[in-house]
Amino acid sequence: MSAPAASTALPEAPPCPRHPEQPAVGTCTRCGGFYCEAEALRHEERTYCEACGVLPEVGHLEGMKRKLWGKRDGWAWLMLASAPLHLAFTVAMGMDGLWHWAVLGAADTAVVGAWFLGVRLARPALLLLPPLWLGGFLLKGRDLWVLVPLVPAMGLALWLYASTRVRLFFQLEVDGERLERLWDARENNPLARLALVCGLAGLVVPVVAPLAMLLGLVGLHRVNPGATPPIGKRMHALAGVMLGGVSVVGWTGFLLMGRWPVPPG
Ligand SMILES: [Zn+2]
Ligand SMILES: [Zn+2]
Repeated sequence: MSAPAASTALPEAPPCPRHPEQPAVGTCTRCGGFYCEAEALRHEERTYCEACGVLPEVGHLEGMKRKLWGKRDGWAWLMLASAPLHLAFTVAMGMDGLWHWAVLGAADTAVVGAWFLGVRLARPALLLLPPLWLGGFLLKGRDLWVLVPLVPAMGLALWLYASTRVRLFFQLEVDGERLERLWDARENNPLARLALVCGLAGLVVPVVAPLAMLLGLVGLHRVNPGATPPIGKRMHALAGVMLGGVSVVGWTGFLLMGRWPVPPG
């Protein structure tokens, strides 16, 4: 008679093919492969392995969330870029003995540094900086003109606090509705959206107008309501083409009139 297994008498579950140290807990609805608990993705009663769960036709929102989870966005890198300026300000004020301003500079430096490192406290802390600076200015008896830079700074801080993309960077949970909106802004026919932006810009900067028409036509071609997930923004693309066209005609007419001015009287 053979000796019983040393570790456990229970029959062992097969290991996960991607994480051999983890036991598999089920098989994927789509590919039939084993998955472990950590990577299992559930959509509408069905469970998928990690590879299948993020496919566009299975769960495009979950896929986007995993892609952006903990990943720095442009704002995080901008925070890092601004850190040396805040630090230089802090040191310069400290060396001049202006401790009042040095403390404010140090607070800025700490918040932007922590933001870049993904410290969650940096997100609410950013909201405190504009009021702190306002307090600092008022203490020194400055006029209310200091609100001119502080009001937009406060607006930006509030916007960043509310941003779904920023929440994903800080690895904070977001609901499906927020993910849907982020998807619509980022991934749903971005060329059509860019066409509209270029179309509006073309009204002021004429060289952008032909680009708006081109992007609009490509964006229009990509619209496919039957795809999974659906590709939309038809109106954005159309507006880009039309605004671009109006700009091209308008600016051409304007330039021609400038070249052959109507002789007076
Ligand atoms: Zn699978
Ligand atoms: Zn696994």
